[in-house]
Amino acid sequence: MPKRKKIIVITGGAGFLGSHLCDRFVEEGLKVLCVDNLITGNLRNIKHLSKEKAFEFIKHDVSKELHIKGPVNYVLHFASPASPVDYLKHPIPTLKVGSLGAHNTLGLAKLKKARYLIASTSEVYGDPEVHPQKETYWGHVNPVGPRGCYDEAKRFAEAITMAYHRYHKIDTRILRIFNTYGPRMRIQDGRVVPNFIYQALHNKSLTVYGNGRQTRSFCYYSDLVDGIFRLLHSKIHSPVNVGNPDEFTILEFAKLVIKASGSKSKIVYKPLPTDDPRQRKPDITLAKKYLKWKPKVKLQQGLQETIHWFKENLID
Ligand code: NAD
Ligand code: UDP
Repeated sequence: MPKRKKIIVITGGAGFLGSHLCDRFVEEGLKVLCVDNLITGNLRNIKHLSKEKAFEFIKHDVSKELHIKGPVNYVLHFASPASPVDYLKHPIPTLKVGSLGAHNTLGLAKLKKARYLIASTSEVYGDPEVHPQKETYWGHVNPVGPRGCYDEAKRFAEAITMAYHRYHKIDTRILRIFNTYGPRMRIQDGRVVPNFIYQALHNKSLTVYGNGRQTRSFCYYSDLVDGIFRLLHSKIHSPVNVGNPDEFTILEFAKLVIKASGSKSKIVYKPLPTDDPRQRKPDITLAKKYLKWKPKVKLQQGLQETIHWFKENLID
């Protein structure tokens, strides 16, 4: 008798990160059930998997009850708008998918006795007063500001995940993702990486918000996927930061994109969005120690690959 494939449910599987996770788990020999309502995702991201027997797409809003027939071994909850432009456009679906969506997917994990992993975010630290950010820092979030819909939904998602772990003994993992980029981001999703690349490839001015002195640390998707895989197979139930600690100001980043794309673009300054975090850099001591993980791809290399991909796949 051939052994039954393990089954993994990936919510948000038609999005940027979710689709790369679908690829990874199909490669690892699992059966992947990708659940997505396509609010910010696209079937293009998973088209190449459609002929795989080990892959199934289920169009569903996970803020509503989720029923899956048969066994499930793992549930990965990645569904949520992630770009500030997207979650400002969809504040209520964002709050719902972080809260009701987490509740429904935890319920599924409980029913199926599956291991659960939630995609949380560096945004739980808000505009951090501790730098770099360690997992023990509780954060500095404005609950009623425009970003509150995302930050508080993710904070709730972490809280309910820990409650299910403590009360129902669910085998959970909490992943705090820092800015991650790469192929399959939507070119117009509003995040800084696709925005700058789009502008540079069209020789338009790069729109730096504020004075450009705010910082971010950019992780290439392949490193992140590897970190997720290791966290899922670890025994750590408390939150773990996964991101690249190489920190850049947004102005430095704009200049890097112009150089890497050979563009003639200039830089223009636009107003800084409300509550835009001034600094962000993960402390990855925990991931290094317990997951034996650290990022391998330098920003210059990841940017080259991403720019190349956007050139081949420029869809307005
Ligand atoms: P994305 O927008 O490309 O993907 C999100 C996916 O979730 C989309 O396919 C969307 O259609 C789907 N979705 C949203 N609401 C849904 C719902 N109610 N039901 C079913 N599907 C739904 O974004 P991404 O960058 O791939 O982010 C994926 C996850 O990782 C998100 O949870 C995000 O908060 C988290 N994250 C990402 C980053 C990053 O830098 N990319 C950083 C921190 C956290
Ligand atoms: N940003 C910018 N120009 C843009 C888009 C974003 O200067 O066209 C800045 C934004 O203000 C923030 C940083 O780049 O300081 C990262 O923004 P992003 O939307 O990628 O995500 P965030 O890290 O804020 O969640």
